[in-house]
Amino acid sequence: MAEKYHIPVKAVPPRFKPIGKSTVLDWGEGCLRCSRCVKETCPYQAFRHRTFDNSSMTDTIDSLCKNCFRCVQGCPRELVTKAANPEYKLLGDPYWTKEIISVTWQQAETGRIPVSGAGYGGPFKGPGFDSIWTDMSEIVRPTRDGIHGREYISTTVDLGRKPLFLSFNDRGEMTMPVFPLVEIPLPIILTEPSLGVGKSQVRLIMAMAAKTLNTFAVIPAEHLNDRLRPYIRHLIPQYAPGMLNSDDPLLQEARAVELWDHPNVTTEIDRLKSRYPELLISIILPATGQGADRCQALAGAGAEIIHLNADNHAQGYHDAQEKHLKDLTRQVHLRLVEAVLRDAVTLIVSGGIAMAEHVAKAIICGADAVAIDLPLLIALECRLCSHCQEGDDCPVDLGKIHERRGTQRVVNLLGAWNNQLLEVLGAMGLREVRRLRGEVGRAMFFEDLEKEIFAPLFAKPAGSEVMDRDPN
Ligand code: SF4
Ligand code: SF4
Repeated sequence: MAEKYHIPVKAVPPRFKPIGKSTVLDWGEGCLRCSRCVKETCPYQAFRHRTFDNSSMTDTIDSLCKNCFRCVQGCPRELVTKAANPEYKLLGDPYWTKEIISVTWQQAETGRIPVSGAGYGGPFKGPGFDSIWTDMSEIVRPTRDGIHGREYISTTVDLGRKPLFLSFNDRGEMTMPVFPLVEIPLPIILTEPSLGVGKSQVRLIMAMAAKTLNTFAVIPAEHLNDRLRPYIRHLIPQYAPGMLNSDDPLLQEARAVELWDHPNVTTEIDRLKSRYPELLISIILPATGQGADRCQALAGAGAEIIHLNADNHAQGYHDAQEKHLKDLTRQVHLRLVEAVLRDAVTLIVSGGIAMAEHVAKAIICGADAVAIDLPLLIALECRLCSHCQEGDDCPVDLGKIHERRGTQRVVNLLGAWNNQLLEVLGAMGLREVRRLRGEVGRAMFFEDLEKEIFAPLFAKPAGSEVMDRDPN
């Protein structure tokens, strides 16, 4: 049996006090001096571990509290109360919500699956990925326990082109080309975030994290410097149209490169392949209304990896601005299935992958793997405040984070995400993530339910409008 994939997580406290959801207020006046004070029974020992943060001149309890309200309900004199933190309310935007940001901070700090003391408080359904409900019907089967290892669940995926059939000559020798294929132990690669300060330090952290996780980090080729060169086996240099020089010595060292799509990209790939047959080549293209046509054409022309990129809010570009990445991924996946090309090519999707559950949902929609960007910055304590884009100071000096500390926080985040993926796979009764690809039978889509079940149930019978207007 293959050795179990293990992500080495280790607690890394933040450099800046995270912005807590609420403030704990505890008063001493009127205290009855109970034999067992509620502050001693906090399940997260928030009162015991609280300190004073000199950099922000604040009490750290707000970031330790998990909002279970046990202390608030338990104090007989109601001396412990909680109040909303106005700074927290300003975090993020409607897509990258404050909850996503603070949960990402927790995961990067601890490497653990996040807990919410008061349970899930969000809506039952929402737009985009929130309209997909995953089938967890096997959750009660203790044998499918991915994290604790009673039954091995694989999160390994392959990057590259696979032959749809094998052919042999009379001597039993294979008569077809063997394509390069690389396995990565989790269906996630890292890619450069579109914002943030200290990009060269962030790139170094991405490269080091990719090596630790045994995956890849996509870095624009023009930024590959001497500090990144030692990590080249875990980097995917990315080239804009016309920027690839096939004499670049980098191409002999790298295992994969990524080219932005352009009309002559397949000719460029043929040229590259004739010199570097072992080099994996990914083609990145924006998720537009023509995405399915283009992906079919590229897969038919022999593409190995197609990378479909949406914007930071998981929306398509140009004529597909109103479409979500989940729908665009399904379109491409189904088109490749129809064209009998789906198993030949690897499909990676990116843009707006913000939570561990988005990884599973993108794969259910038909991706083989995802590329993540902004969560890497958030793991490094970024607040998505956009000050850097406006030329203002970064509130967390992101560019100055030490590479080892930053790497461990990114590794922690991916450790927590991988454990959540294992939980989802275990709860679905699946033993490997490859089986999840395109498995829409393992999920319910709210749009479909609304159309097929709720609409007929709640539709008014024909003629009822007339009856409404004219009860006589
Ligand atoms: S609300 Fe819960 S987690 Fe927060 S301090 Fe009180 S007991 Fe601890
Ligand atoms: S915290 Fe704000 S200023 Fe700093 S990198 Fe993040 S978005 Fe940019």
